[in-house]
Amino acid sequence: MGVSRLFDLNKDQNSPNRNITPITAELDNSDRMTVGGCLLSDLANQYGTPLYVIDEASIRSSCRAYRKALKQSYPGDSFVLYASKANSSLAIDRIVASEGLGIDVVSEGELITALKSGVAGEQIVLHGNNKSDKELLLAHESNATIIIDNQHDIQRLDKLISHKEGSVRLMLRFTPGIECHTHEYIRTGHLDSKFGFDPEQVSDTFAQLKDYKWAKLVGLHAHIGSQIFELSPHMDLVEVMADFFLRAKDLGHPIKDLNIGGGLGVKYIPSDDPPDIYSWVETVSNAVIKAFDTRNIELPRLICEPGRSIIATAGLTLYRIGARKDIPGGKTYLSIDGGMSDNPRPITYQSTYTACLVDRPLANTDQVVTIAGKHCESGDILLNNIALPTASSGDVLGVFGTGAYNLSMSSNYNRIPRPASVLVNNAQSDLVQVRELPEDLLRYDRLPDRFIAKG
Ligand SMILES: *Cc1c(COP(=O)(O)O)cnc(C)c1O
Repeated sequence: MGVSRLFDLNKDQNSPNRNITPITAELDNSDRMTVGGCLLSDLANQYGTPLYVIDEASIRSSCRAYRKALKQSYPGDSFVLYASKANSSLAIDRIVASEGLGIDVVSEGELITALKSGVAGEQIVLHGNNKSDKELLLAHESNATIIIDNQHDIQRLDKLISHKEGSVRLMLRFTPGIECHTHEYIRTGHLDSKFGFDPEQVSDTFAQLKDYKWAKLVGLHAHIGSQIFELSPHMDLVEVMADFFLRAKDLGHPIKDLNIGGGLGVKYIPSDDPPDIYSWVETVSNAVIKAFDTRNIELPRLICEPGRSIIATAGLTLYRIGARKDIPGGKTYLSIDGGMSDNPRPITYQSTYTACLVDRPLANTDQVVTIAGKHCESGDILLNNIALPTASSGDVLGVFGTGAYNLSMSSNYNRIPRPASVLVNNAQSDLVQVRELPEDLLRYDRLPDRFIAKG
């Protein structure tokens, strides 16, 4: 059935979102796959499976691409925030921050991870449509910027901090009437989204914020979706945002920040063809320059918040193949030692992936198989009908593009512990998240005293 063509021979080193494999993926002398100079099957032996592998060079390359592209195509100030919900840990936040990015967080957990990894509060932005008092206070105390999403945020902040010294930097999030998740987008006046203020509430909220001395409105925010392959939605978005930016200025807010969210897509399967980071940034920059020129306003500080396009293709997951089921006249299932608990995207969104046997990525594919997870759920299928070389129990399967929204959305369904994460770079591997053990999952269980037999 031919040779798996996972490797783009001209790998796009400058825009890792355009490759299926991490940018350091290579073959050794025996045509086995290495990433970050580490033989993948060695990592599986050393750390066990399932195993998340993260290529540091790919993350750094993506971060640099965003920053460099902004320097090249945008004459005003700019700032890139990593949407850490894609993959939040001390090591990842540290790497991203060392490349000069700030960190977007949406919970106390993500916030303390960023702070503990050494990121300054000023470089952190707190999102969320239902922030707790604790989250708001911690963000305020650490001097993070808070994105106000609704009236509840304003009322809670007024209660929590109006009696304190100083002010808090706010950005206002609104739903721009543009929504986009895959290859299509819609434009409407309003969106039934749970996030942000409706466009009709924005002007009143600008006026209201003038009444609070603690509130320092510094910018506007909108985010229109994820895994976006088109450039035009963000051009439309910038136009809508520029109108509200002008309105805020007219109402006396000296705002500077225009935060256009994230959303750039990545390549999961060979037919995916996302724009590169440079084109995305250039398109957005040109749209901002044009929109602000037309309205005669000074250029804003342009902020974007990529998540997936920073880290998805930096990661892959290694599994060991176990049981095989050949249905007479039907499918062949190969079962692996993980599944929907470490990668819930296929069962949640019908997401597709690319996989290979990491020690034989170029071998002729002579069977079509379905890769099944080990969970008690018929829908726990990671890849449907993929071509593979004949595989046996014990072979290591690599599933690519799992750096974003895998670990961060993982669960302990069936009481299956979370995999370890290992960071690879220059032929070195470092554990950055320890594998959970089944016993760890008992840590929070309690047996009521009355269940324990006395005497
Ligand atoms: C999820 C999210 C992002 C990141 O989206 P990606 O598609 O991963 O780039 C950015 N901003 C906000 C507000 C988000 O919710």
